Amino acid sequence: MRTPLIAANWKMNGTLDETGQLIRAMRPGLDAISGVEVLICPPSLAITVARVAVKGSAIKLGVQNMFYEDKGAYTGELSPLMLKGVCDYVIVGHSERRQYFHEDDAIVNRKLQAARRHGLRPVLCVGEALEQREKGQTDEFIVGQLRQDLAGVEAAPGLVIAYEPVWAIGTGRPATGAAADEVCGLIRRTVADTWGAAAAEGLRVLYGGSVTGANAGEFLAQPEIDGALVGGASLKPAEFVAIVQAAARARPA
Ligand code: PEP
Repeated sequence: MRTPLIAANWKMNGTLDETGQLIRAMRPGLDAISGVEVLICPPSLAITVARVAVKGSAIKLGVQNMFYEDKGAYTGELSPLMLKGVCDYVIVGHSERRQYFHEDDAIVNRKLQAARRHGLRPVLCVGEALEQREKGQTDEFIVGQLRQDLAGVEAAPGLVIAYEPVWAIGTGRPATGAAADEVCGLIRRTVADTWGAAAAEGLRVLYGGSVTGANAGEFLAQPEIDGALVGGASLKPAEFVAIVQAAARARPA
C-alpha cells in the first residue's frame, strides 16, 4: 500500500517571515491528520526557517530545484551536497524550470542522477503542453520525456513522479480525474518497463495542476494517483489542509 503524498510547491513566494508564519498557520490542521505524507517546498532561501517551523511534526521539506554538480564555479546555484541533510526531497524538471530556464531532459536526467547520488528524493515532473494534448500526442510525449529523464538512472526507491499537464498549471483548469488517472497509469507502466514491476508498484505518482480543496477528492480517489503536487492552493493554509484531509479520506490508514 502506497502512502499518499501531498506536496506543496510554494514557487517564488514568501519572505522568510512569511514562510514561518505560513507553516505555523498550517500546523494545527496538518498535525491532526495521519496516514498522509506532507511535503512542503518553500523557496530555498527559507529552508532553514522552515526547518525550525516544522520541528516536532511529521512534515517533510524539499527544495524546488538544485544543480547537478557538487561544487564549483556555477554562480547562483545550490548543489545536492549542500542540500543533503537539510531537506528530504527535491523537485526536478518542473515545467516552469523547463520553460523559463531552458532545462531540457538531459539536464533533468543529470539532476536525477545527482539527487540519487546524495540520497535526496526527487519529485520528477512530466507533462504535455496544450498543443500536444490537442494533437493527441500526450502518451507519446510523456513516454518520451520519461525515457530521456530516467535514462541510465538506477531504480530509485524514493523517486516520486508528478504528472503535471502544463495547460493545467496555475490556470484554474485542472484535468479530469479520469484523464489524469490514465496518464498516471501510463507513467507506472513505463516505469515497469524500465525498472520492473516491483519498482513500479512502489512508485508514487502524483497529479498536479490547479488542485484545490474542492477538487482534490476527485483525483485522490483514482487508483493510479497517489497524491498531489499543489502550487497556488498550497499557499492558503485552510485550502492546503483541506487537500491533505481529502487524501486521508480517500486512503484511510
Ligand atoms: C505546480 O506549480 O506544480 C502546480 C501544480 O501549480 P498549481 O497548483 O497552481 O496549478
